[in-house]
Amino acid sequence: MALLQISEPGQSTAPHERRLAAGIDLGTTNSLIASVRSGVAETLADADGDHLLPSVVRYTTEGPPLVGRIALDAETTDPLNTIASVKRLMGRGVGDVKSLGAHLPYEFVPGTSDMPLLHTCRGDISPVEVSADILRVLKTRAEQTLGGELDGVVITVPAYFDDAQRQATRDAGKLAGLQVLRLLNEPTAAAVAYGLDRGSEGVTAIYDLGGGTFDISILRLNRGVFEVMATAGDTALGGDDIDRVVAQWIMQEAGIGEDAGHGALRHLMQVARTAKEALTEVPATTVSVPVAGADDWSGSLTREQFDELVSPLVQKTLSPCRRVLRDAGIRVSDVQAVVLVGGSTRVPLVRSKVAGFFGRDPLVDIDPDRVVAVGAAIQADILAGNKPDDDMLLLDVIPLSLGLETMGGLAEKIIPRNTTIPTARAQEFTTFKDGQTAMSLHVVQGERELVSDCRSLGQFELRDIPPMVAGSARIRVSFQVDADGLLNVTAEEQVKGVQSSIEVKPSYGLNDREIETMLKDSMAHAQDDMEQRRLREQQVEADRVLEALEAALAEDGDQLLEAGERRRIDAAAAALRQAGKGPDYRVIRRAIEDVEQASSDYVDRRMNENIRKAMAGHRVDEFESS
Ligand code: ADP
Ligand code: MG
Repeated sequence: MALLQISEPGQSTAPHERRLAAGIDLGTTNSLIASVRSGVAETLADADGDHLLPSVVRYTTEGPPLVGRIALDAETTDPLNTIASVKRLMGRGVGDVKSLGAHLPYEFVPGTSDMPLLHTCRGDISPVEVSADILRVLKTRAEQTLGGELDGVVITVPAYFDDAQRQATRDAGKLAGLQVLRLLNEPTAAAVAYGLDRGSEGVTAIYDLGGGTFDISILRLNRGVFEVMATAGDTALGGDDIDRVVAQWIMQEAGIGEDAGHGALRHLMQVARTAKEALTEVPATTVSVPVAGADDWSGSLTREQFDELVSPLVQKTLSPCRRVLRDAGIRVSDVQAVVLVGGSTRVPLVRSKVAGFFGRDPLVDIDPDRVVAVGAAIQADILAGNKPDDDMLLLDVIPLSLGLETMGGLAEKIIPRNTTIPTARAQEFTTFKDGQTAMSLHVVQGERELVSDCRSLGQFELRDIPPMVAGSARIRVSFQVDADGLLNVTAEEQVKGVQSSIEVKPSYGLNDREIETMLKDSMAHAQDDMEQRRLREQQVEADRVLEALEAALAEDGDQLLEAGERRRIDAAAAALRQAGKGPDYRVIRRAIEDVEQASSDYVDRRMNENIRKAMAGHRVDEFESS
């Protein structure tokens, strides 16, 4: 026996126990993990107190891969087995990688799909696996610090990441044994970290200068949800380039040639980086480097000199800034907040140039290397269900409506598609027959009206309903979807309190493509329905036009029409009659227009005639004054 709907949906929310959640910034240069603890989102440090985990993985013939600082040094000594900047390869095909190839020292082999594999001493490894190795280290760090297994994480990705890159990131999370609650755009995470999602609606610019990439994004906060209006950037511009120009300056000053050897050049880059980072804090720093066959060179680098060296690089970030404003269709004055992200925005010159460009001081209170992870942690905490309702922003949504089968094989939607999760809704139903003691509940998913067009998610029965007159039992059915998209349906008879429930994973077995197909289907049918309505409307209009024309012709067609004109009108009317039987509303509309055009002189003449008749025996000024 199916359900009979008797009341409008009510709303209630399920309580959630506290769950361990973390936000992960899986960066090109550095990765971090953060979590909300005692209400504060903070990045988590490793045993040495380091928060930043260099995104470098070294594979050796034995033992687990070495990740982070301990792999960093091997970048030059063991380059083929030491993978850095793997983020650049995520979700990329063999073709993409070939075009990046010049900058990447690895040995690529084609995989089974289009995915390129990295050839190492541990075998051929996919970029997804390399990322998973980084994620595993962060996972362990978090679980040790938080004292329990992580229930879910939010991983950030650049706003411009396409589906393949996002999917690859998700897969890496899964491979690392993480429950990925959501992927979050890095700029959005930064905005969330600053609580901008709770502020007034408006436009925010996120300026992210990291180790090797520059990204500028314009976000608009609209009803609590950030929308990416535009992004731009430079995938080959970042802190590494700053290090390079400083290293070149040192080489020039110290008289070191390009032929100094790999080790020496590498050391130079390290010295340059140390000097750069020091100049963020102090106005001048001493640089010393060994010179082959001579005494060590030592010199002073002032911030002023440094600024002059790196100014062209910083300047280079401004043209994407201009472009992104243009793409978003806004002016610089429309930007209400500027957020700095990425370690390289620590450089004072970067801050002042950005402030100059946007005409306002950027937000810098949160450490720019950590701000993305912090925002992701806040989001993860919300998604895990650790926050009260009013704080739920930027949540995942239900891709397809969830509902129940009711009488007549109709699908009654209980939770409409695009509802943010977690959510809970309840609705009351009643019995259809006198003395009915059992009821079958069929849970369905989809946008179509008929159950046969929706997807069946599961079925269960509610028994032991006390026998009553049809329509007097009250059965409350509640749908609860938790942050993971897990659906729980409970039915409870309100008098005796008998209960029954079922748990279903709504998207289980449905991949994105299938969801898309289901949506397209419903949209395609919505289109059909609309076409159908337009057709009916035009048919009605055609009938009205033809009827009016016939009445007019009968009245004065013979007096007012020439034979030729009459033929044209009759022909147009015949064409309209024909078109009205056809399936295309556009054809009917055109035929109506043709009739109107063919008869427009006639209509004018009739109008004049009627006016003439009405005015007969009156003076014109009698009409003018009325
Ligand atoms: P990514 O997002 O690419 O993973 P990060 O945001 O971690 O990178 O930025 C790393 C870059 O930030 C490196 O080039 C590093 O030298 C630079 N950086 C870190 N601290 C400072 C500092 N104090 N001054 C200048 N640059 C810094
Ligand atoms: Mg970053």
